[in-house]
Amino acid sequence: MIGTFDAKIPPGPLAQKWRSHRDHSRLVSPNNRRKFEIIVVGSGLAGGSAAATLGELGYRVKCFCFQDSPRRAHSIAAQGGINAAKNYQNDGDSIYRLFYDTIKGGDFRSREANVYRLAEIANNIIDQCVAQGVPFAREYSGYLANRSFGGAQVSRTFYARGQTGQQLLLGCYQALCRQIAAGTVQMFPQTEMLDLVIVDGQAKGIVTRNLRSGKIDRHAADAVVLATGGYGNVFYLSTNARGCNVTATYRAYKRGALFANPSFTQIHPTCIPVSGEHQSKLTLMSESLRNDGRVWVPKRKEDREKAPGEIPEPDRDYYLERKYPSYGNLAPRDISSRAAKEVCDQGRGVGPGGRGVYLDFADAIKRLGEDRIRERYGNLFEVYEKITGEDAYKVPMRIYPAVHYTMGGLWVDYDLMNNMPGLFVIGEANFSDHGANRLGASALMQGLADGYFVLPNTLPNYLAGQMGKRPSPGAPEFQEAEKNVQARVEKLLRVNGTRSLDSFHRELGLLL
Ligand SMILES: Cc1cc2nc3c(=O)[nH]c(=O)nc-3n(C[C@H](O)[C@H](O)[C@H](O)COP(=O)(O)OP(=O)(O)OC[C@H]3O[C@@H](n4cnc5c(N)ncnc54)[C@H](O)[C@@H]3O)c2cc1C
Repeated sequence: MIGTFDAKIPPGPLAQKWRSHRDHSRLVSPNNRRKFEIIVVGSGLAGGSAAATLGELGYRVKCFCFQDSPRRAHSIAAQGGINAAKNYQNDGDSIYRLFYDTIKGGDFRSREANVYRLAEIANNIIDQCVAQGVPFAREYSGYLANRSFGGAQVSRTFYARGQTGQQLLLGCYQALCRQIAAGTVQMFPQTEMLDLVIVDGQAKGIVTRNLRSGKIDRHAADAVVLATGGYGNVFYLSTNARGCNVTATYRAYKRGALFANPSFTQIHPTCIPVSGEHQSKLTLMSESLRNDGRVWVPKRKEDREKAPGEIPEPDRDYYLERKYPSYGNLAPRDISSRAAKEVCDQGRGVGPGGRGVYLDFADAIKRLGEDRIRERYGNLFEVYEKITGEDAYKVPMRIYPAVHYTMGGLWVDYDLMNNMPGLFVIGEANFSDHGANRLGASALMQGLADGYFVLPNTLPNYLAGQMGKRPSPGAPEFQEAEKNVQARVEKLLRVNGTRSLDSFHRELGLLL
């Protein structure tokens, strides 16, 4: 194994670890920062925020993504919101409570020091994004609004209608563009990393392929940051964008980077059910809908084919409210997903194939009016209608669990560095602070905490010892990596097979 496998958690009480770590970490002085080149692979919320911040600090950054623009990273799909413990609602929230809920949501398997740091930093993220102009929802008074997400008994989720990821990404992209214009960040869109280059046991560069021209290039750096997202698509059907692949992580793994918790997959309870063999993707209906929607199935199997309106109240089973009265419809994702599967396995599932449960807004519409519901979730109702042809203001939505987020990923220590020195991993690509059953609205929180606040403070700890050690892209290790990439690409192009790529992917997904 290359490097060490030590989490390097700073000593001292939980609440003081991050401050004292920063107080004692090594620094790179402003004049020396331009002497370092950093590769950031990925320009979603994690990579974009890291590249922009490192550029602003004065490092020279090369940032890569396979989309035609950083604005199209998968982060754009995030709907529901981002957590922080501002306690604007005065409903008892605190940094400790956000920490504790996150640890509990992670089934007590999380790394406590990282989660505490995350809970502390969450409030800074909101301030940073507001300063960038991210249009978070506001109350009439002007205060930022909050809603509830699963696994919490307070309202701490900040949101921009059902497009929080898109708005956060636009803020992040602005910050990135500023650095591109200033010349500190060089952006390489439509460029895929196909190998990691290791020199003397340290990550010192990558080999890429230009997706338009096919040209293969070598890039040397003082450190490599992977912000390349998750691997939910391994299951074929998931809520992830079709483009999300795990090439970067896999290549790093093949070069000796350790991968942790591969089985920790988050199954999201509220997705549009599978409708047939033709499908290549599943669509999420944000968890925020469970703030106002009530989840139910018929009490009796015999009623499952009846129209929902024909099933009177006493014959309905609001099973989440019945089983988990303190959280009700906002029970954590794993619990809600398991409960939905159970009622469907009992033959009480609704819709084609019996793999669906109702998410019903009738009570909320009666209580608040259709306009209020439209204001809160209008675009989600539109997406639902486009896909199913049903108007959820009139009939309940049908939902079912789907693969959504991967907690597993490349292992990192407290500094977000892998066992491979010089390789840093941030956002969904790392193995996450959160343990097993991650809560909603914490992926955006983690990605932006990593990129805006953690990495810029921990990277110098490594860089300070690397002055003048950047290899040349002509070094033998780069030549070897390029030769391997070239050979692999040529082999794939020569196959001339008769089966489509997708058919292999589907078979693998079904197997998993
Ligand atoms: C439908 C949906 C809704 C969600 N809603 C929420 C929500 O409301 N709240 C929340 O907290 N979380 C939500 N999530 C989860 C959250 O959106 C993601 O976990 C998060 O955005 C991941 O960000 P990231 O920057 O780590 O990765 P991504 O946004 O996936 O970015 C990956 C980047 O890496 C690049 N890349 C990958 N491989 C390579 C390669 N080999 N070479 C070059 N570039 C590469 C890509 O081009 C891209 O720029 C949602 C997820 C989905 C699927």
